[in-house]
Amino acid sequence: MEKGWLGLPYHTISEHYNRLFQEKVYKIPVSVVDDCPNRRGLKGMQTCVFCDVWGSAANAESLSMELRTQIEKYHDHIKHKYKANAFLIYFQAYTNTFTKVSALRHNFDVALSYPWVKGFTLGTRPDCLSKAVLDLWQEYHEKSFVAVELGVQSFFNDELEFMRRGHTAEASIEAIHKIASNTKVDLGIHLIFGSPQETDERIIETAKIVNTLPITNVKLHNLHVLKQTPLEDMYHAGEFTPIDRETYARRVKLFLQHLSPTIALHRLAAYSSRWDELVAPEWTKNKMGTHQAIIDYLRAEKAYQSELFTARNEEEQRVQKSLEAKSQPITSVHA
Ligand code: SF4
Repeated sequence: MEKGWLGLPYHTISEHYNRLFQEKVYKIPVSVVDDCPNRRGLKGMQTCVFCDVWGSAANAESLSMELRTQIEKYHDHIKHKYKANAFLIYFQAYTNTFTKVSALRHNFDVALSYPWVKGFTLGTRPDCLSKAVLDLWQEYHEKSFVAVELGVQSFFNDELEFMRRGHTAEASIEAIHKIASNTKVDLGIHLIFGSPQETDERIIETAKIVNTLPITNVKLHNLHVLKQTPLEDMYHAGEFTPIDRETYARRVKLFLQHLSPTIALHRLAAYSSRWDELVAPEWTKNKMGTHQAIIDYLRAEKAYQSELFTARNEEEQRVQKSLEAKSQPITSVHA
């Protein structure tokens, strides 16, 4: 007899992609821009408190390589490691729409020139969405898969001010609707949990706001301290204490419990790709350990995504039932 689980107690991004592509797709992260409005100091903006010199995601090696070199290097590595056949190019670091439309078009064309590339996904901010950019996304959506990840981070303005994001919650909501009404790209948002002003009630409210938005996915991060960031100075001055793992896990649980079952989750916490640059908290160093600890907590609490959400249509009911089943322990017999 062997005890097991039917699956993870939340709607994973892999399920979302499997539905769209009928096969497993792998992301190739690339870096093509090295700037954003905050770093440029436009309109008095400042660098986001958590952002390191690599724009929160890129690395020096990638930025110094041609786009084709980056794509081919990662492709060869991932194909060999996972026997992968289908890929998405992920324009990840900095603000990928903070550049000329002609440069964007060139990068998209390079990405789509490989037969094994199924489309691309790009990260940007709510205040870098010109009509020309939206038109370009829609144009490429009509011939390929296009996904956009919007750095919303919080729906509370005092938290956004603490993070020095330089945009409001209202601007994020407006941007989401603007993208959804002008394009059909696959739209997701990033959220950061762990600001000093955050409460359990705000997390529940955040899930309720997300449920009203025309998005398909969310990526969760915990606010962690990297070297060479404004947050590092605040941390050393005793002005910021990172959220502890138990509190973070509880907030992820509350968020998931109130979240619509149809919204997929990329991941449940931030995992620093440059461990030597992580200052705090220590628990975020161990990628698999952090993920497993959150999953273990959800299972111990018998909690699952949408558990406290009232389904509004048949699709939500169907997915909600599958998530409920996935959260239950099973017993199987092996001969
Ligand atoms: S997080 Fe994004 S918007 Fe903020 S400073 Fe870094 S690259 Fe710029």
